[in-house]
Amino acid sequence: MTLIRTSLLALVLVLAACAPVPQRAGIPTTWQGSPNFNERKPNFVVMHHTSDDSVDQALRTLSDPARSVSAHYLVGRDGAIIQLVDERARAWHAGESKWGADTDINSASLGIELDNNGREAFPDAQIAALLRLLADIRERYHIPVANFLGHADVAPRRKTDPSGYFPWKTLADHGFGLWCDPPFPEPPPAFDATAALRALGYDTGNPEAAIRAFTLHFLPDELSPALTERSRGLLYCLYQKAAG
Ligand SMILES: [Zn+2]
Repeated sequence: MTLIRTSLLALVLVLAACAPVPQRAGIPTTWQGSPNFNERKPNFVVMHHTSDDSVDQALRTLSDPARSVSAHYLVGRDGAIIQLVDERARAWHAGESKWGADTDINSASLGIELDNNGREAFPDAQIAALLRLLADIRERYHIPVANFLGHADVAPRRKTDPSGYFPWKTLADHGFGLWCDPPFPEPPPAFDATAALRALGYDTGNPEAAIRAFTLHFLPDELSPALTERSRGLLYCLYQKAAG
């Protein structure tokens, strides 16, 4: 009898491992399963630089239980791509973050780390590999062009990655992220820059931090917590693109 009970218990455990128990409401409800569903899918891609000097160093950090950080992909300086987390799972790359009304970017995104210490250019081989990876991701998930973002975009008070060396224009040329080339239009007198930043998605709880993140992404030569005439024109251009 004990043997049968043990076998049954083993069988139950095996079955439980194969088919995880559904996540249910915290209040009593009736379960009536539908076959019409699939995995939740990412709708944003967030890019980072590791701030490390090598892939090995970054891998140690991104796999250390004590650090509680990870990303779906790590792209080396030579263009080699390492995957660390299943795309269906929630990697811990964005931390406390916000874009538009979305306050849980980790749940809605894939995170890509680039092996880069933050004080150097990104090699061509690395960006070529990133573009291939982004194209593959976009094809599978149909991620909107405006939803390819940097960590600083979604966490402007805390983060400054990827750095001003990151080639956002090259990405935009391939359809990843919004972009405007100069000359920038002159905004109307009533143009509200803070409202425009918010409309793009920036958390404007700290307007200076939002402007700094915006200029880091779109006009790093004019990285500043205050808008200039030029960066205001750029913001107006992007605002029109996002609205159109
Ligand atoms: Zn980051």
